Amino acid sequence: MANPPQDIDINTEDITPLPVQATIISESEHPIREQQLDREALKVLYRLRDAGFKGYLVGGGVRDLFLGKKPKDFDISTDARPGQLRRLFRNSRTIGRRFRLVQVFFRGNKIIEVSTLRSRSEFEEDGEGELLASNNTFGTLEEDAFRRDLTINSLFYEIESRTVIDYVGGVEDLNRGIIRMVGDPGQRFSHDPVRMLRVVRHAARTGFAIDPATFEALQEHSGELMLCPPSRLRDEILKDLRSGASKPWAEQCMATPLWLTLFPFYQDCDQAGRKEAAQLALLRILAEIDRVYQSDTQEQPVHIDEYFLFAALLLPWAEVHFKLPGERLRGPQFHERFSALRDDIGQRFGTPFNIPRMAKERISTLLINLSTLHHAGNAKEHPKWLKRKSYYPECKRLYDLYLLGRGISVTGIAIEDFFGPAAPMRGEGGKVEVISAVQETSSSSRGRGGPAFSNKKNGIFGLRSKRHS
Ligand code: ATP
Ligand code: MG
Repeated sequence: MANPPQDIDINTEDITPLPVQATIISESEHPIREQQLDREALKVLYRLRDAGFKGYLVGGGVRDLFLGKKPKDFDISTDARPGQLRRLFRNSRTIGRRFRLVQVFFRGNKIIEVSTLRSRSEFEEDGEGELLASNNTFGTLEEDAFRRDLTINSLFYEIESRTVIDYVGGVEDLNRGIIRMVGDPGQRFSHDPVRMLRVVRHAARTGFAIDPATFEALQEHSGELMLCPPSRLRDEILKDLRSGASKPWAEQCMATPLWLTLFPFYQDCDQAGRKEAAQLALLRILAEIDRVYQSDTQEQPVHIDEYFLFAALLLPWAEVHFKLPGERLRGPQFHERFSALRDDIGQRFGTPFNIPRMAKERISTLLINLSTLHHAGNAKEHPKWLKRKSYYPECKRLYDLYLLGRGISVTGIAIEDFFGPAAPMRGEGGKVEVISAVQETSSSSRGRGGPAFSNKKNGIFGLRSKRHS
């Protein structure tokens, strides 16, 4: 196995085969029109030009415009240094330590991120506390193209000539529908294994085919993925769950060793002879989550909390491994199963992805209560103790997803349930004290066959908040 990304010798990384002749695509030969760019992005580009600098639209923005999609954001690169950018844009700030990025602020909370052209990726750097001299990091347009991940993400749209500049064959790959790593895929994956997730992400979103050499290297290097920092992996997975294309993402992962590398506990389903059933259930669940995210608009933003998304991701596994919601769980059995589930989730999902304790608690609570709802019959018969809980509506939504996963027709989860900003977790801002569901013996829950979560005011998911004074 190759060295973890921390051990990279940056001097050997991404040897750029320079000089490379760029292909320049004129406006009549590409579909990008200036009017498609945000007003604010144009303002930044023209201000750069007027000050004598180069300004390029880069990355996902160029890719999406090329494909006729509306980009999520417009990232800009320039030959101006961060200090020069700060002087040029007074309403800006610098973020990042090694690779300083300038954020330019506009009315309506609009932010445009401007970066100086670089010679290498921020993810190839190493050494806690190491701060590279700026002349070590800034680069030419060519170098910037070669430090990027996919050919289709390495194009520049130049505002002055309205041309697309292509050093890596990205335009041809866009036209032919191919996902290809820039450079040697094996080397690029070893230096930053997260790029493998970016390959499947963009294959899933575009429906493009993965180039054979990239695919082969991905198979070979997939084991290196878990060398990445757990929080980075968690954020990447969340990005896919929230992309509106989580079903094709999971299908792509399942077609490679990445799936079991990320979620080895899904092997429990394979061993139980339930591989296909669990995959089918998960893909149906993710299709419904995609339907919700595809309805997202600026006026009606969708928000689903990460613990709900993770509970949905784990559901088909929990169904096989913990017999949820199949078995009816009462009294001590409920508590025992809850604590086994919580421990397993903690070890097998929480640790590899650095899931916050509160989220782990919530994932387990949502999953265990599938059994409560399943055996209660219709909604009228749902137990009162559960109806009183703040998480009851989410339990019902997850149960609907479970039914959909089983191919049982429900009207579908109401999309409106997911509109709105992120709801703050009750108790947020205060110190959270975990009350074990097993230890809690409040009079309201004892002896009634219900779980013993806190019934205190503000008590949720067996947690209660303790405000700092
Ligand atoms: P999205 O639509 O999800 O924003 P994106 O391609 O713009 O897609 P970002 O994460 O915003 O993705 O990254 C912006 C650009 O930075 C990418 O298009 C790519 O050129 C480059 N990039 C991002 N991550 C890496 C990486 N790990 N290695 C090399 N280049 C990267
Ligand atoms: Mg982007």
